Amino acid sequence: MATLTETLTTRTLGTTIAERVGNTPLIRLDRLTAHLPGVLIAGKAEWANPGGSVKDRAASAIVDAAERKGLLTPGKHLLDATSGNTGIAYAMLGAARGFGVTLCMPSNVSLERKKILQAYGAEIVWTDPNDGSDGAIRKARALAAAEPEKYYYADQYGNDANWQAHYHSTANEIWQQTDGRLTHFVAGLGTSGTFMGTTRRLKELNPEIQCISMQPDSPFNGLEGLKHMATAIVPPIYDPALADRNLEVETEAAYAMAKRLARTQGLLVGISAAAAVVASLKIAEEEAARGKEAIIVTILCDSADKYLSERFWEE
Ligand code: PMP
Repeated sequence: MATLTETLTTRTLGTTIAERVGNTPLIRLDRLTAHLPGVLIAGKAEWANPGGSVKDRAASAIVDAAERKGLLTPGKHLLDATSGNTGIAYAMLGAARGFGVTLCMPSNVSLERKKILQAYGAEIVWTDPNDGSDGAIRKARALAAAEPEKYYYADQYGNDANWQAHYHSTANEIWQQTDGRLTHFVAGLGTSGTFMGTTRRLKELNPEIQCISMQPDSPFNGLEGLKHMATAIVPPIYDPALADRNLEVETEAAYAMAKRLARTQGLLVGISAAAAVVASLKIAEEEAARGKEAIIVTILCDSADKYLSERFWEE
């Protein structure tokens, strides 16, 4: 005889946190392209994931793969270098599934991020902000090498489960939500997992879709979560040949777009999301100038919540 709780299904009982990852809404940014007939930009609202960002997808695929392979067993700590959102996703999943989480990150991440990670009970190892995300990666590698029995080193920059998460979820969602009619896909590069995985699958579904990667215009930028590839440790999962084109975005342009989206679209998005819209609008204007129709889909990685203390909002 089944017990009372065993008779419940996800419909009657609700879902687990992990089951809520993905299937995010696609939001049309109509007012942004009102002056460009025949062209539309739409953004995946990744803040709708339970941990509040696109990184829930990669983190849950990484954790699933590690548990399946017996690498992340009870009593072990998941260890990784993260600028914040992946850490939040790991911390959430660790708390929900019962494994420890140790994160290496530069100490200049926003106060909001620190507070969220502490709230989930994650252990944090701070690294020198002058060394950026590369310093955090070096620290995680050193800890993993020193105590292999304590840590499972998730290595999001080199872990195929990262891009595969987007190959299996993000790309197919975009395809379905646009009835396969998108013409362009635009995404920023951090680990590059979002761009790599989504692009690989979209190109299989229709090789004509133009896939454009976006990165900051300099190593000294305010686009948290994104890498200036020419000056960073290049992620092993990154293959620049996959992009039809790469655009660089200035921090100031992203700040201005964050305000514009808040005030003309009612959308409070994070700074990398705003940068992705800057790049998307550039493509939109080019296509309109050439007299082409276009449906441009981009990734709105997170909401403005964690960046509200940034000064540009007041200026
Ligand atoms: N934007 C934000 C806010 C992020 O946290 C990240 C992850 N580093 C990215 C963009 C880039 O995503 P990915 O790692 O998949 O390239």
